[in-house]
Amino acid sequence: MLLRQLRETMAEPLASQDRLDKIVSLIAENMRADVCSFYVLRDDGALELFATKGLKAESVHMTTLRLGEGLVGLIAAEAEPLSLDDAPSHPAFAYRPETGEDPYYAFLGVPVLRAGQTLGVLVVQNAERRHYGEDEVEAMLTTATILAEMVATSDFDNLIKPGSDIDLRRPRMFTGVSFTDGIALGTVVLHDPRVVVTNFIAEDTEQEKLRLDQALEKMRVSIDAMLDHGDMQPSSDHREILETYRMFANDRGWVHRLTEAIENGLSAEAAVERVQNDTRARMLRQTDPYIRDRLHDLDDLANRLLRVLTGDHQGMGRSLPDNAILVARNMGPAELLEYDRTKLRGIVLEEGGTTAHVAIVARSLGMVAVGQAQSIVSMCESGDDIILDGPAGVVHLRPTPDIEQAYVDKVRVSAKRRAHYAALKDKPSITRDGIEMTLLHNSGLVADLPMLDDTGAAGVGLFRTELQFMIASKLPRLREQIDLYAEAMAIAGDRPVVFRLLDIGGDKVVPYMRSMAEENPAMGYRSIRLGLDRPGLLRTQVRALLLAADGRPLKILVPMVTETFEFKQTRMVVHKEIDRLRRAGQKIPSRLELGVMVEVPSLLFELDQLLPEADFVSIGSNDLVQFLTASDRANPRVAKNYDAIGLPRLRAIRTVVDAAKRYNVPITMCGELAGKPLEALALMSIGMTKLSMGPASIGPIKELILNVELGPIKQAVAAALSDGSDGVSIRVLLQEWIDKQNLPV
Ligand code: PEP
Ligand code: MG
Repeated sequence: MLLRQLRETMAEPLASQDRLDKIVSLIAENMRADVCSFYVLRDDGALELFATKGLKAESVHMTTLRLGEGLVGLIAAEAEPLSLDDAPSHPAFAYRPETGEDPYYAFLGVPVLRAGQTLGVLVVQNAERRHYGEDEVEAMLTTATILAEMVATSDFDNLIKPGSDIDLRRPRMFTGVSFTDGIALGTVVLHDPRVVVTNFIAEDTEQEKLRLDQALEKMRVSIDAMLDHGDMQPSSDHREILETYRMFANDRGWVHRLTEAIENGLSAEAAVERVQNDTRARMLRQTDPYIRDRLHDLDDLANRLLRVLTGDHQGMGRSLPDNAILVARNMGPAELLEYDRTKLRGIVLEEGGTTAHVAIVARSLGMVAVGQAQSIVSMCESGDDIILDGPAGVVHLRPTPDIEQAYVDKVRVSAKRRAHYAALKDKPSITRDGIEMTLLHNSGLVADLPMLDDTGAAGVGLFRTELQFMIASKLPRLREQIDLYAEAMAIAGDRPVVFRLLDIGGDKVVPYMRSMAEENPAMGYRSIRLGLDRPGLLRTQVRALLLAADGRPLKILVPMVTETFEFKQTRMVVHKEIDRLRRAGQKIPSRLELGVMVEVPSLLFELDQLLPEADFVSIGSNDLVQFLTASDRANPRVAKNYDAIGLPRLRAIRTVVDAAKRYNVPITMCGELAGKPLEALALMSIGMTKLSMGPASIGPIKELILNVELGPIKQAVAAALSDGSDGVSIRVLLQEWIDKQNLPV
């Protein structure tokens, strides 16, 4: 009854204050309360009395309570209802004489919440000592849901204290995790836009059940149609998600709960929201990642159903604003790839780690991405202004003008720098004293490769083939792999691409391959160990690479080799495949080079056995330093304690460089070290001339090369390395050189 009256009041052509006054009167009347008051949370953290029936009218817009102050402040701060028989005796009670609230004892207050965020507080009070029970709490919460929607959509500008706004629109800052470099200023696009339910009460229960049935059927048909759609690749993640949707859409338990909620008096859409709230509450409590994912899918499906019921098709085929920044709880890589990439500038997730697949894809598409921005989805609306500070992992939602200006300036500076680097792209990378360097990309997705033209890099020094495996939902078959590698080679053209054999296992999880829990996954069943143990996988990949080369030269790199023997075994697999192709009369590469990664310390002590076997060597400093220092590369608490170019590490790297020279084997650095200017200088000073790095690092490193005279630095570093005297820091030594010669680092 109350809900229906509220709905009618919302639809009436009233001024905002009159509407609020009428609403509190209606609530008071229905709850048989002497007082009903509505407080709205302002952006300065104060709860302003916005309307009252029963308290003194002059206190409206005058009385305020801070968050946590008084009973109202307590409810807002804790986002929990509070029912008291004797309110003044509660320790948090704060008396405001101007309201004249002395004679009221019974008290019930509920938070006005929207997607978990407190927007205000709704209170009823009675002079007599009575108890507000569970049903009344429930009724007030339902009423509050409607008020929340009203607060979010109304214009209170001329009601609220001048200069303030409602808290919902306050500027907010989130500190998450950096997924990428770069800064993006843009407009929020909620990946999963909220559906606004306005029709809460069932006029006719049978009619609502019919609406639900029809909507379910329509949704099932649309999911089936999407699944049957010819252009969808059978292996895509999208398909997997749709299959899960189809399963839920036909789930009897879910449908039963929806029907039950309608029988309790709710409209079909309100029933979906009710059941969805249960799902969300379970999702928050659930610790098993698999079950959480499934609940997440169910939540998405409920949103789809809501869209069908409300006729809100916002989510489907939306056109994006320029500089769109996607905000989502989480997202799969395939979903990200469905958006118009020309308009997308960035992405913010509440979940996700730096190695999350979607982060890898965002990085490779040149988007700015920040993860683990807690609760951001419920704090923002599509259309809000937003700034992503990639390197800091910080998000500014609805930034103040001064913050915005600071970032506009930052972007201008970095655009200038980018233009400056772009101008260097065709210059040969030669130091001032004439030493030529080869700069290469680290990459892993075909989508990265066109960037070769922008940076002027000489080729791809490390193509991490596992990335493509990580973003797929099924093991890519031979044909898919051939197409992928062939496309990579076609884009690279004459520039060489070093394809690294699958480095899965450890932290590089592939969803479709069952992995056993390991105590130390980085040192576990991974990479070439897995490849040699499961030769089917390795053979397929090698065959795909050989066929993709289609008679052109081919470079293959073997990761995580621990003993020379493993490298030889891999070579046997490759040669067997070559023989097989030859016998079948198929083209074989005009030249095949098989390289070895040095990233497990044991190899340092058998370089004389290893190097004569290898066509080239690539040092993986990420793993090499992790294993040399026994410090997990993904754990900043330990990894940051050991300088990667500290004496022992740089000596180890130099040992490999010197040995490679002796055996006349080309050597590259493909770990993260090569992309950092000071570290790259250290590598060049010990004689490395091939550096492979993320595309964004090519410009700064080239600029350094063009300005440096390497001879004197080489001598100084050599002296420090062989000096034997402790306490010399290569980092300090190089920094002094950089400062003295004013190098651009
Ligand atoms: C390395 O270990 O340095 C390397 C390049 O390989 P990844 O980072 O893929 O382990
Ligand atoms: Mg490695």
